[in-house]
Amino acid sequence: MTDLTKLTIADALTGLTNKDFTATELTQAHIDQAEVKKNLNVFITATPEKALAQASDSDARYQSGTAKALDGIPLGIKDLFCTNGTRTTAGSKILENFIPQYESSVTQKLVDDGSVFLGKTNLDEFAMGSSNTTSFFGNVINPWKSTANPSVDYVPGGSSGGSAAAVAAGIAMGATGTDTGGSIRQPASFCGIVGVKPTYGRCSRFGTIAFASSLDQAGVFARTVEDSAILLRSIAGHDVKDSTSVKMDVPDFASAITGDVKGLRIGIPKEYRMDGMPEEIQNIWNKGAEWLKAEGAEIVDISLPHTKYALAAYYIIAPAEASSNLSRYDGVRYGLRVDGDGIDETYSKTRGAGFGDEVKRRIMTGAYVLSAGYYDAYYIKAQKVRRLIRDDFTKAYEKCDVILTPTAPSGAFPIGENEDDPIKMYLNDIFTVPTSIAGLPGISIPAGLDKSGLPLGLQLIGKAWDEETLFKTADVIEKAACFETLGTTIKKVA
Ligand code: GLN
Repeated sequence: MTDLTKLTIADALTGLTNKDFTATELTQAHIDQAEVKKNLNVFITATPEKALAQASDSDARYQSGTAKALDGIPLGIKDLFCTNGTRTTAGSKILENFIPQYESSVTQKLVDDGSVFLGKTNLDEFAMGSSNTTSFFGNVINPWKSTANPSVDYVPGGSSGGSAAAVAAGIAMGATGTDTGGSIRQPASFCGIVGVKPTYGRCSRFGTIAFASSLDQAGVFARTVEDSAILLRSIAGHDVKDSTSVKMDVPDFASAITGDVKGLRIGIPKEYRMDGMPEEIQNIWNKGAEWLKAEGAEIVDISLPHTKYALAAYYIIAPAEASSNLSRYDGVRYGLRVDGDGIDETYSKTRGAGFGDEVKRRIMTGAYVLSAGYYDAYYIKAQKVRRLIRDDFTKAYEKCDVILTPTAPSGAFPIGENEDDPIKMYLNDIFTVPTSIAGLPGISIPAGLDKSGLPLGLQLIGKAWDEETLFKTADVIEKAACFETLGTTIKKVA
């Protein structure tokens, strides 16, 4: 029998419909794989019983001919999405024992489409990080090993490291993520899979634990572009419970994958050619442009002049919003409580014990830039820069239809590296943050390997609401790259 953990979602849906195997068998195969790969630490809370119960319901629907869009597909859910009756921690000690009594809108949509939840995946605490090393529940290990040092463990990227590693390791067929400044695209790049952050407002944020509300956006991980298009369709759509979700039709994203990029204008932003960028990153970027050109796309040089300020603006705006969002964890309403002498001491003891270092760093930065004396100098200034960055993209899209860049300035790095230098860690997001600041959609596609055999991704940035062009273009890159997803037999030969 075929190894069920190596199938694409598209093929699994066909197999389930043809009754080649059952949803229960498919789910069990993934539960078994999770056991074999337990050392990767991808789940904070695994939910095999729930998964098997959902799979059994799926099987009944396949039997009665009433199967839904994702019926029986086993998924990982980033532990930032509230799941009714299942512990939701945000990777933090402060929510270690928090069991929501409601379901996030994104996960509700996945439930409604019949998918199966294998568990809540590990992440950087409150989604702050680029390496999944700030989780209270321990770091996640990237399933990829370098050829030079096979005994060294590498980070999966972050913050959605558990989701990315689960999909790369064949533990889940797909997974949800959230992306505030790169948390889907960068781990997708590090783990050699596809990651999509849609346009801000495409998916509901209701029930997703907030980091920086004006930037946070849900998205998906999968091993192929087509699978990611299938998953995104399921989670997208307007939601009355989130006033920042937008009333837009949700297209059938997968049908945009036509292989035809003739005449499509691909923008190459000159400001992304950073000093000191490793040659292998530049090479893979050039290759991406060549692949698209070979299929009839036109390569155009564009300029995004305010890119150099994007990271600085992000690390003012995101902490400012985080400091406000995280004020709700006060030991009174829910989550951890450490009693002190009076309310002030209870607050400080609770928050002191409940939050890790990175979260505290962000809260302090955020409170500082929002404080009376510095508000104009930092926060207002950063918002002005944000507008300039957005305007850059608007201008660029007069000359091109989609933008091609590397996803990250390097491949995965060993666990422990960059830990002592937050700024160095923040530089991981240099290519992903501008997209987030402008609210635009982005996708990372695995494109090749670095010199030590670790995956490198290419990023496509689209116009707002034009995810279809992203999927169409990403598919052409995927076919040209012939990237062999780890441990699977997924063939992407043109
Ligand atoms: N690594 C970035 C940060 O730490 C982005 C995180 C994210 O997108 N959630 O803020």
